[in-house]
Amino acid sequence: GWRSRAAFKLIEIDDRFKLIEEGTRIIDLGAAPGGWTQVAVKRGAKHVVGLDLLPVDPVAGAEIIEGDFTDPEMPDRLKEMLGGPADLVMSDMAPNTTGHAATDHMRIMGLAEGALDFAFQVLAEGGSFIAKVFQGGSEKDMLATMKTAFASVRHVKPPASRKESSELYVVATGFRPERLTGVT
Ligand code: SAM
Repeated sequence: GWRSRAAFKLIEIDDRFKLIEEGTRIIDLGAAPGGWTQVAVKRGAKHVVGLDLLPVDPVAGAEIIEGDFTDPEMPDRLKEMLGGPADLVMSDMAPNTTGHAATDHMRIMGLAEGALDFAFQVLAEGGSFIAKVFQGGSEKDMLATMKTAFASVRHVKPPASRKESSELYVVATGFRPERLTGVT
């Protein structure tokens, strides 16, 4: 079985966008307890490198480390572990909620923006990006940058995501690194 309800969200996103296939190389940010990692491996991903603040029980076929994505050394460490470009960077990272909506929103967007910045460094041409975001205003700048750098950018609310939650996923496909010159 899947380790998390979250697994179903990635299944639904991937059924629609077909981002994971035989041989796909993936970075999985905010991996604990490992549901998305399991889905990635099950769907044939070749090299999956995962990261979380929390320890994650091993997933056969993936390499998961414990650490903080906001640690300045983490991007290089993850790149080194993958040993080459990624086809998909996916982030389900979410900070512990404070109950203060504006604060929660800012924190999750900070993580999503960090993940996007990292994706720009590590994605192969044609690669894809998935990140959890929250509904509400301040992701506009991030979206504008994404629309420059990817052929397609969509907001998705997978059916497995609770209706009451303002969580959404941004799904970007067709990375065009040459379009980024001068943007970041
Ligand atoms: N996708 C996972 C699955 O299917 O099992 C569920 C991920 S859960 C919704 C969000 C995770 O993000 C938490 O485990 C949390 O520890 C992690 N997280 C939050 N901030 C982080 C950070 N700065 N660095 C690494 N992981 C982080």
